[in-house]
Amino acid sequence: RDVITKPNLALWVTRDHKIYQKEEPYPSCGPDECVVHVKATGICGSEIHFWKSGRIGDCCVTHDIILGHESSGQILEIGANVKELQVGDRVSIEPGVSCWECDMCIRGRYNLCPKVKFSGTPPSDGTMRRFVAHPARFLHKIPDTMSFATAALIEPLSVAYNAVRRASPYLGQPVVICGAGPIGLATALCARAAGASPIVITDLEQNRLDQVEAMGFNRTLKIDLSWDRLTTAAKIREVMGTDCLPQIAFEATGAASSINSACYALEDGGTLLQIGCGKPEIEIPLMSMGFREVNIITSFRYQQSWPVVIRLVAEGVLGDVDGLITHTFPVEQTIDAFETCADRSKLAIKVQIVDE
Ligand code: NAD
Ligand code: ZN
Repeated sequence: RDVITKPNLALWVTRDHKIYQKEEPYPSCGPDECVVHVKATGICGSEIHFWKSGRIGDCCVTHDIILGHESSGQILEIGANVKELQVGDRVSIEPGVSCWECDMCIRGRYNLCPKVKFSGTPPSDGTMRRFVAHPARFLHKIPDTMSFATAALIEPLSVAYNAVRRASPYLGQPVVICGAGPIGLATALCARAAGASPIVITDLEQNRLDQVEAMGFNRTLKIDLSWDRLTTAAKIREVMGTDCLPQIAFEATGAASSINSACYALEDGGTLLQIGCGKPEIEIPLMSMGFREVNIITSFRYQQSWPVVIRLVAEGVLGDVDGLITHTFPVEQTIDAFETCADRSKLAIKVQIVDE
């Protein structure tokens, strides 16, 4: 417990696009909570957005908040009502604290809880601090063999898992994944584990696709925004290497142009699985999709994913998930970590902040 003497450094974002670190008091532990020493935290693209543009859709940074929602750590203290966890347990933190009382929560779709408090998303403070109190129900034990860095990937992997579960690709089903950021790549790992094949991954940037090939996905396509529907389909078919077109397109950019390419790439009757969140309103080629009976399925965060994803990662089912981590910084250098993540020339996939 010597660690408690270290400063509880937290990373704040302001409404006028600044980030800063400031020491917080050591948190008090509510009866249903645990205090966690945060050992690893990934930076999410959404956090760069809150920093640089102050908002995502209707969700605005109206006052200074602590960021962070991709974390793991070790339990330092447990609340009076907590039975399932002990001091010293190693856990991955599920950041969406839903109310557990509304219809959506009762029906198990707790990712749709209107009262959810999501760590590091306004107005809730997040996990990017050395010590944080979090409800025990949303802390999940990890095996001794799993590193804290890996355990901090359970969050983005859960986004991917939820999307793949909603599309349920089957063995040998051809898919395309649009966008080779951390979410697209996590989706590729989950879709491959589900049996999807061949898997084509698209991006606008060749150097990103080179990284993807190094991760073992060798069917990549650099999208050219000037391609029309027939050209896009022809290029995709070429990369598929067989005479097939994708039956599922996982859209992981949120860009209108990519949603269009995804629709163009799909076989008639295929499914567009939305993951990407771009502008609040986007024009889609609905009529041509209608004439081709292209389905649209949306996906929002995750529910009931942590235990499964922890198991899949521990058993090696998803493959080398740690390959997503390209940069690691100590807590004291969190600002540098953010700058690295925001600088596209650094070729960061997942940037993590770690503490001993
Ligand atoms: P990212 O910005 O790191 O990666 C996006 C990638 O897409 C980049 O490599 C970019 O070069 C590429 N790209 C952009 N436009 C393209 C186009 N027209 N065609 C092909 N590639 C293109 O983002 P990320 O962190 O991987 O997240 C991906 C998306 O998922 C974001 O929109 C994010 O908001 C969203 N997201 C959704 C959920 C959810 O619950 N649905 C959760 C987390 C993230
Ligand atoms: Zn609820």
